Amino acid sequence: MAQTSEKKVRTRFAPSPTGFVHIGSLRTALFSFLFARHNKGAHVLRIEDTDQSRLVEGAVANLLMVMGRMGVEFDEGAYVNAEGKLLERGEFGPYLQSERLPIYQKHVQELVDSKKAYHCFCTEERLDALRKEQTALKKPPMYDKLCKSLTEDELQNKMSEFNAAGISPVVRFAMPSEGTTTVHDLVFGDIRYENKLLDDQVILKSDGFPTYHLAVVVDDHYMEITHVVRGEEWIPSTPKHLLLYEAFGWVPTSFAHLPLILNPDKSKLSKRQGDVSVEDFLNKGYLPEALLNFVAFLGWNPKTEQEKFSLEELIEQFDLAKVNKSGAVLDTNKLDWLNGQYIKQKVSHELANLLVPYWVEAGMLHGQLNNLTIKQLEDLPAKREYLEFIATLEKERLKKLSEIGERTGYFFKRPEYEPELLVWKKSTAEDAKEKLQGLITFFKNLPAEVFNTHETLQNSLMEDYIQKNQYDVGSVLWPLRVALTGEKASPGPAEVASVLFRGLGLEEILTRLQTAVSLLSK
Ligand code: GLU
Repeated sequence: MAQTSEKKVRTRFAPSPTGFVHIGSLRTALFSFLFARHNKGAHVLRIEDTDQSRLVEGAVANLLMVMGRMGVEFDEGAYVNAEGKLLERGEFGPYLQSERLPIYQKHVQELVDSKKAYHCFCTEERLDALRKEQTALKKPPMYDKLCKSLTEDELQNKMSEFNAAGISPVVRFAMPSEGTTTVHDLVFGDIRYENKLLDDQVILKSDGFPTYHLAVVVDDHYMEITHVVRGEEWIPSTPKHLLLYEAFGWVPTSFAHLPLILNPDKSKLSKRQGDVSVEDFLNKGYLPEALLNFVAFLGWNPKTEQEKFSLEELIEQFDLAKVNKSGAVLDTNKLDWLNGQYIKQKVSHELANLLVPYWVEAGMLHGQLNNLTIKQLEDLPAKREYLEFIATLEKERLKKLSEIGERTGYFFKRPEYEPELLVWKKSTAEDAKEKLQGLITFFKNLPAEVFNTHETLQNSLMEDYIQKNQYDVGSVLWPLRVALTGEKASPGPAEVASVLFRGLGLEEILTRLQTAVSLLSK
């Protein structure tokens, strides 16, 4: 087998970019990147665009943008410059398969010349009928090698017929009809295949484009890839690749297949964009560092207690030997937890900046990062500190940045609620009104510095208002909370009042209390 260990490690990520970036693709790219970096090797980006019908405009630029946000880097291959132009760098190019057609065609011809591959003239109708027949007999559908046994004359005749019609026949690789091929996989171990069960795969299509199997082998060889890291779904293709390496007389790369990613009920992961697209995860407000950490654990386990890893730590500790064979469950509760951990670590200034787009999207803020207004509060300029105070308050509780709108609306808009909500369960409207009026007077007389931290405000509320008047705690804090937030559940009313005071001033608190009193007076 391949003795690649002394060579400089070279891995590649080889997507067929057809739109959004699937979480599974991110995992493949990340693992191949981590393995390359850990071994001081190179990471190559090769674009597998041989299926021209599936190409999507801008997909490569989008892919690179997503990988860039996630910290997955490429040392060689396709890249997009500042003007958005797709370019290539490195000594093993071209890195776009559509630009390598002559290389593939030359190699296919070599195989045809040495009788390791053959032209196939079968029509779609014949292949269809064959498939149906085999399926009816419960046999695996396979090409029956009809064209492999054409005599030289038959072959020439068919060729002239096709030439006259201006069509090129496809080329099939002739799989050996006996013996076995063993895949030595770094994750899954040895897997043996009976050669006779391998289909004579088309390697060159009639449009002159290679199929995946041919292109991947030729490219991995010429790009001097030492380790192919890719998803488990490619295992059944690997014996075909190994036989192609053998036919060319090349030493194959090493292979590491990554386990399937599963839903929590162990079913196959959905392909629905909203559930699996990396862009959507980021848009929902998962931090790249949390998502990266989460994805690293999809099939890899450091076998220690450590749960949080930075990219540097992942590079240092990543080892293909610690990749599991069993399916990796995509547990979004775990992701929520991790994201919450990373949010907690953010300094308020940074967190506020990250939250601004979500406040804007929720309609709470208007304008640009440095020139924001709060529309619902008479176009009040949104002071940076105010946003930071709110961010600090929510930091411990947030799981996703996108929750911020629904959690903090009352900081940007006076609350609307039914007056009954102001009445605590053990109390009356009259009592609530009295407590709120008392609070207005109490707050008016409170020195500003008491409002500066929620602890000092909470202490003063408890000692100088509630205990002093021998009030029931709930009968005061409940209507205060509702008057300030319009919500049944929120951070503590002293926390909210302190933020409102520091961000918008005492007037805002008094206005809200006054509104509540008026509602109760109706
Ligand atoms: N182009 C294939 C894909 O889209 C690459 C598979 C491989 O890595 O060999 O997943």
